[in-house]
Amino acid sequence: MSFQLTCGHCGVRSISRVVAHSKITYSGTDFRIDSLAKCDNCHRSSFVSFHVNTGYIYEFSDFEKQDVIIRVEDLRHAELFPVKESNIPDFLPNVLKDVVEDAEFNYHSNRWKTATQLYLQALEFACILIESDFDEISAQQASAQKTDITKRINSIFEGGSISASLKEWAHQIRVIGQYHKHRYVEADEDDCKDVRDFLDSFLRYSFTIPGQISARRERIRSAKTA
Ligand SMILES: [Zn+2]
Repeated sequence: MSFQLTCGHCGVRSISRVVAHSKITYSGTDFRIDSLAKCDNCHRSSFVSFHVNTGYIYEFSDFEKQDVIIRVEDLRHAELFPVKESNIPDFLPNVLKDVVEDAEFNYHSNRWKTATQLYLQALEFACILIESDFDEISAQQASAQKTDITKRINSIFEGGSISASLKEWAHQIRVIGQYHKHRYVEADEDDCKDVRDFLDSFLRYSFTIPGQISARRERIRSAKTA
């Protein structure tokens, strides 16, 4: 038996095969399984515990010998350990968050080139959103205009939206320069990590911190009027 789950180690949703289990029986038709399941992607194990009783959609007698794949969400009273903590910065507009999530998925699958392309795309979207005063509709219109990413970074620096040190950091990243020149990016693991680290700081500085500040201001305001 295997589970389909998002692995808490590598963050990839793939198949995890049951490699060991023990069963606690409450009655002939009512029991709990504690199992260790090994991820097909990173080969590390997760603990999956779940409750089984009659009327369940799967036949669990001799389940370990069966060739079934069960979505972990379909298990009854399931516990999964470890669970992947999302490290995607808060307060990102949806379109940007989607690209970052796709990039992270590829990063955790060691697909460096694809992940790098997606991080660069996220960086470009982020710059366009900042240039458009965080308005998603005008950002969408602005994205039709092809502008080099380093020019966009320079322009938001000149507009006072990012610090000089963040701008200098961007210019030091090899793949950003490459994307600027011809958009064809050859990226290895180091390049991918460089642009991932930069993007994380950039997004926290430009979206998460301002979002937290305005949320706090809103809380203070509503506490005063209450
Ligand atoms: Zn894994």
